[in-house]
Amino acid sequence: MKLTVNRKAIERAGTETVEEISGENIYRCYQCGRCSAGCPMVEAMDFTPNQIIHMLQIGDPDVLTAKAPWLCAACFTCDVRCPHGVDISKIMEAVRLLTLRQNRDHITPDSLPGELYEEMPQIALVAAFRKFTA
Ligand code: SF4
Ligand code: SF4
Repeated sequence: MKLTVNRKAIERAGTETVEEISGENIYRCYQCGRCSAGCPMVEAMDFTPNQIIHMLQIGDPDVLTAKAPWLCAACFTCDVRCPHGVDISKIMEAVRLLTLRQNRDHITPDSLPGELYEEMPQIALVAAFRKFTA
């Protein structure tokens, strides 16, 4: 018997997990874009913060491979600017945790150039590994 994968159910489960982890209601976002207009990291992101929310709202699994959640600096600018009080930094963290909780690292120590270890303060490296590794 051929097994069929209920893609929609998987996608919806992903969105519910993000809401569960972040404690934020993704559907409060009405896509005004004020968060993205003020985000200091938006130029480096592949998707703007409001696009990330939209992907979650429609259950787009590509959100799991997006770079934007890893680039979020958790500066809370979006939270302050959002008319509906959506805390995107918590949502970005929840998206990262979906990967990390599968025991998948975003970076590994041996993937970084050696000079980085000499140039960067140790505290910054520790903070980075806490954010990017499972
Ligand atoms: S918390 Fe993240 S998404 Fe929000 S403005 Fe700061 S960098 Fe951008
Ligand atoms: S500012 Fe708030 S409501 Fe507007 S797009 Fe961003 S998250 Fe959605």
